[in-house]
Amino acid sequence: MNLAQFPRRGYVKEPTPIEFLPSFSKALGGKVNIYMKRDDLLPGTGGGNKTRKLDFSIADALAKGCDTIITCGAVQSNHARLTLAWAVKEGLDCHLVLEQRVAHSYNPAASGNNFLYQLLGVKSITVVDGGSNMAEEMQKVADKLAAQGKKPYIVPGGASNPVGALGYVQCGQETMQQMFEMGLNFDHIIVPSGSAGTHAGFLLGMLGCNMNIPISGIGVNRKKPVQEEAVYTLAQQTADYIGAKIDIPREAVVAYDDYVGPGYSLPTDAMCEAVIMLARTESILLDPVYSGKAMSGLIDLVRKDHFKPGSNILFLHTGGSPALYAYLDTFRKDVHF
Ligand SMILES: *Cc1c(COP(=O)(O)O)cnc(C)c1O
Repeated sequence: MNLAQFPRRGYVKEPTPIEFLPSFSKALGGKVNIYMKRDDLLPGTGGGNKTRKLDFSIADALAKGCDTIITCGAVQSNHARLTLAWAVKEGLDCHLVLEQRVAHSYNPAASGNNFLYQLLGVKSITVVDGGSNMAEEMQKVADKLAAQGKKPYIVPGGASNPVGALGYVQCGQETMQQMFEMGLNFDHIIVPSGSAGTHAGFLLGMLGCNMNIPISGIGVNRKKPVQEEAVYTLAQQTADYIGAKIDIPREAVVAYDDYVGPGYSLPTDAMCEAVIMLARTESILLDPVYSGKAMSGLIDLVRKDHFKPGSNILFLHTGGSPALYAYLDTFRKDVHF
């Protein structure tokens, strides 16, 4: 697929590493070999997956002559943090609309990403109730700024539209190339599945190269059929946007909902176990909302013998560790400090 036809800013300068996790694989019984694609190490303040998407989204904003970025997220949004960070670096204003997906969850004094919003000098934060129409709420902010003579550009939640998903189409292609160079074949790939751009883009990138490796998403929010439909639709829209004729089999879209727990961003014991296990076997930091829950899914699937013995499994680490510092109390029962 020709991604060179789209403007991008060049935030992603080199492939992120694919690493074998020997101690973690052993801690899980040594039945399978677990590898990790380290998108947590992507450039951008605090790292993480949104940098790949914003490389295209911010380029689109600049190509359209915009001087102000508006985006949305939950109260501890990695996407909001990274959008703000790249906007600052580009000399663009950035305004955030934050959704209290958990009632009363916005705490202006919270650490983690919330602290970073202020440290990075966010222009404004508008807090709205869970379930609000975020597109409308962002449009209201955009209209107000336009009336003041600004040229606003709205990046949807998670940059999960066809423009942003291009970043993960590229990641799929990059992973295929790395597998070839490393002489390493994967039997299964696990990706976190949230606002769907990562999962949809990665799947499309792989399908576009005829890489028939099963990809399983681990949902962090929505029910399985709803999430799978969101991923499927975005993958098709992204293929159309690229101008690629690719058959996306519906059954290639799998997004488990068994690891969400009580809801988006709410801790689970399995998430805590995953975060602590990765820290103590591989010195890798996961996050409580996405990569920790996704890893809890991988751990469960390994324990349930979902994968053939000896399989090579790739986990896409999408980042998010700054959010750990907003969850200190969650970890106090297991980590003593
Ligand atoms: C946004 C995010 C995800 C999910 O990616 P989507 O494209 O929204 O599905 C996963 N992990 C982290 C750390 C994130 O910030």
